[in-house]
Amino acid sequence: MTAADINSDQLVYTLKERCRRCYTCVRECPAKAIRIVNGQAEVIQERCIACGNCVQVCSQDAKVFKKSIDHIKQLLSSDKKVAAIIAPSFPAEFMSLPHHQTFAGMVRGLGFDYVNEVAFGADLVAHTFKEMMENEEEYKYISADCPAIVSFIEKYHPHLVQSLSPIVSPMVATARVLRKKYGNWLKIVFIGPCIAKKDESEEIDEVLTFRELRDMFEYNEVTPGNTEASSFDPPISGKGAIFPVSRGLIQAVDLDDDLYKGDIIVAEGRQNFQEAIREFESGLLRQEHLELLCCEGCIMGAGMTSSVNRYAKRTFIKNYVKSKLENTNRTQWEREMQEYLKLDMSNNFRENDQRMPLPSREDIIAQLQAMGKYDPKDHLNCGACGYETCEEHAVAICKGLAETEMCLPYTIESLHKSVSQLNDSNRKLESAREALKQSEKLASMGQLSAGIAHELNNPLGVVIMYANILMEEVGEQEEFSDDLKLIVEQADRCKKIVGGLLNFARKNQVKHEEINAEELAQKSINALIIPENISASVECNTTNKKAELDEEQMLQLLSNLCKNAIEAMPNGGNLKIRLEDDDDHIVFFVDDTGEGIPQENIDKIFEPFFTTKGIGKGTGLGLATIYGIAKMHHGKITVESNTDSAKGPTGTSFKVTLPRYQTKEIKA
Ligand code: ADP
Ligand code: MG
Repeated sequence: MTAADINSDQLVYTLKERCRRCYTCVRECPAKAIRIVNGQAEVIQERCIACGNCVQVCSQDAKVFKKSIDHIKQLLSSDKKVAAIIAPSFPAEFMSLPHHQTFAGMVRGLGFDYVNEVAFGADLVAHTFKEMMENEEEYKYISADCPAIVSFIEKYHPHLVQSLSPIVSPMVATARVLRKKYGNWLKIVFIGPCIAKKDESEEIDEVLTFRELRDMFEYNEVTPGNTEASSFDPPISGKGAIFPVSRGLIQAVDLDDDLYKGDIIVAEGRQNFQEAIREFESGLLRQEHLELLCCEGCIMGAGMTSSVNRYAKRTFIKNYVKSKLENTNRTQWEREMQEYLKLDMSNNFRENDQRMPLPSREDIIAQLQAMGKYDPKDHLNCGACGYETCEEHAVAICKGLAETEMCLPYTIESLHKSVSQLNDSNRKLESAREALKQSEKLASMGQLSAGIAHELNNPLGVVIMYANILMEEVGEQEEFSDDLKLIVEQADRCKKIVGGLLNFARKNQVKHEEINAEELAQKSINALIIPENISASVECNTTNKKAELDEEQMLQLLSNLCKNAIEAMPNGGNLKIRLEDDDDHIVFFVDDTGEGIPQENIDKIFEPFFTTKGIGKGTGLGLATIYGIAKMHHGKITVESNTDSAKGPTGTSFKVTLPRYQTKEIKA
């Protein structure tokens, strides 16, 4: 099923897959009958006046109109007589054909029984109009020849329906003539430049645009070469053929302006006609008759294949009319006019109010603010959304016709925000990735260390045991005892290192018990020998000092951190253990004012055996052990240090975050 089938009961509609968020149709639609949903334009059928502006302006060919070719084929293959009635704008469409008879012959070639000129209907309309003007005291109407204008008034200015000129259009006038001539059973197809005609009158069986007619010629392989030229069928038209150019009606009635009791104002094009209606409505125009056309003359209709060459088209029409009038049998024309002017040419219209209530001031302001427009200087009125002002756009949003994303400055702004948010998350992701890499590295080191430590532990135990036995046996024999002491001493040192490695590898168990964090901090400071030039303190900012931690291990953790801090302040300074809360966690900070850690070492300090202290002074296992303890408590340890500040090193702060309770249940 094609998109055309889906929408086939709608006169003008969008091929969604082609619509590209340019909002040109919104801008060009005089009826504001286009709604944007998820960035795509939808034509609202009840609001649409079928002027075809959107079809003409859409650069993507996403706006299309209902096609009638299939129905025409059916009519032509039935046993009914079918008349084609041709709009007087045809010379402007088929400029390349040598003669109007060539054109009439081609239409006949498609299978039509009669080919008539709507220009004869235009003659009748023009004369009826002239008579009304002469007979009525105050003739003040809006001409009703353009179906898009009629629809616009019925929908958006319904109280002006009474002001629509009560005369049928030339198309309907022609249809009435032919029905009188051939009988009511005649099928009538109007062929012209206009999409709106498709919905104008039930007196017409089908309406074909010139575009469709060209398609039919092509499909049926009808060419000037294979058809016989023929004249239009009578009745033959007079000056009505000038109808499709602007002021056509006036020119057709053959009157100069003095004869009018009022003036005639001609307004054409989507902006001018609206302005004229507004002025007519407000009473500014007194005694004037309005001749309104939605397009710039019917020659610019959306059913024509080209919207350029406006002046060339006018010239073609004028030349056609001139040569036609030279060859017209005036007596016959007058006789036929007399005959058909007896026909009823009256028309009436009905209101079809489609106006939407104006939203409240508060709602409009809320919509403007949603697009970041808080005061008048934020109103750029750039028109990118398809509405002339930001306010009009906000109103359309309130009415459900538009979306905030249509505002280009607002969308660009939001896009910028999203981009910077994205950069932010990218940065976070990058640092999380780094942290993960670091922890994976430490984890694999842990495995290796645990393996080595485990293997070394037993032989080391044996060495220590036998060294001690030997020492006892040897007693005070000088030559051996010093050597044996050294062996025992160094083996003990090895044992400590192995113990440190096991701690780092988290091979120990955690014994959770309730402790007082402040007391713990104090205890760990008390256990150290603090040089005189260093002041050590505990600062407790937590609301709850209780936590379930392994006291032994925590003492080890804090005193290791404090030892490092002291070693980083050879010239004195401050050492502080701070306690803070963080949701369900308790946080220990160990701050110093020492020499700091250079950036290039930050990633390495938790690795086993990394030390910047001289041989024999540092083992490089302190932080590795702490890291293991924090992990065992399901916590984490981070460090901030600055050696690059202009003021010189500003010290180091280790942060250890630990879950306060082992399980949620305990907390409850
Ligand atoms: P060690 O103390 O045996 O060197 P650690 O694992 O405890 O091993 O520390 C590793 C390294 O981290 C230290 O050598 C030192 O360079 C650095 N370090 C740790 N804590 C601090 C601190 N508070 N200030 C400056 N550097 C520190
Ligand atoms: Mg240390």
